[in-house]
Amino acid sequence: MIGRFAPSPTGPLHLGSLYTALAGFLQARSQQGLWLLRIDDLDIPRNVKGSADSIQRTLEAFGLHWDGSIAFQSQHIEVYEYFINDLQVRELIYPCTCSRKELINNARGELHPDIYPGICRHREVKPDSDYALRIKTDFQNIDFQDQMQGFFSYDLARQYGDFVVKRKDNIIAYHFAVVIDDHLQQVNQIVRGHDLLAETPKQIYLQQLLGFYTPAYMHVPVIVDRQGYKLSKQTQAVAVALTSPGQVIFELLGLLKQRPPVELKQAPIAELLDWAIAHWKPTLLKNIQVVSCDF
Ligand SMILES: [Zn+2]
Repeated sequence: MIGRFAPSPTGPLHLGSLYTALAGFLQARSQQGLWLLRIDDLDIPRNVKGSADSIQRTLEAFGLHWDGSIAFQSQHIEVYEYFINDLQVRELIYPCTCSRKELINNARGELHPDIYPGICRHREVKPDSDYALRIKTDFQNIDFQDQMQGFFSYDLARQYGDFVVKRKDNIIAYHFAVVIDDHLQQVNQIVRGHDLLAETPKQIYLQQLLGFYTPAYMHVPVIVDRQGYKLSKQTQAVAVALTSPGQVIFELLGLLKQRPPVELKQAPIAELLDWAIAHWKPTLLKNIQVVSCDF
């Protein structure tokens, strides 16, 4: 089994990310699997200098040691371009010059502006205009069984339309890069937050087109604060404090519905994690999408 944690270097690790990292770590280690660290740093405008280092230090401080060397997506641009070209040759992708404004106007409130109606499929690209690349999604039904959230069936054309694989600013789209890296790193178990579940059908579709194996998916709940907002960099979630990692892990295990004995509250972090690996029961989180945190 090979799992991975793939944060974006857009700030220090906050509690919500640490929660997902811990779940992925336990899922891998409880099966004697590998757990890799990858820095998803393609969205250059959003990257914050020093974040990749601070993420590594935080994981180390919490005893979440990864295997092998760290992968950086920004070092794989040529590989992504190779696969973009492959799809282009197969006429599965096409350039799109639509602006956000055009898509909103076109939708006229009847259609969600994020569901692309294929406007540029049969339109010549004006010279010198910036364009995104979109992938064709005709008649594609994607079904999958999530290990925590159950069975899902998506109609790609109706629910997403032709989606972007390379953005107008030349940045490779998140779901495209992720599919390729997971394949290159032979990742066969993906543990991540429930907020990414809706990305899954797009990724499975890309895996199918590129002839890749589809990994097992496990979408764990997201943590919300007392007001019900997801902890994220956008909501200014505070970076986790490194002063008492054992206590934080103990609390996070509670939010993962695991039940560490109270005696372990003061135990060294390695001992607490050993207990958690030996007793990891992801089934206790079944069908839970959100947990709220009040510490
Ligand atoms: Zn277009």
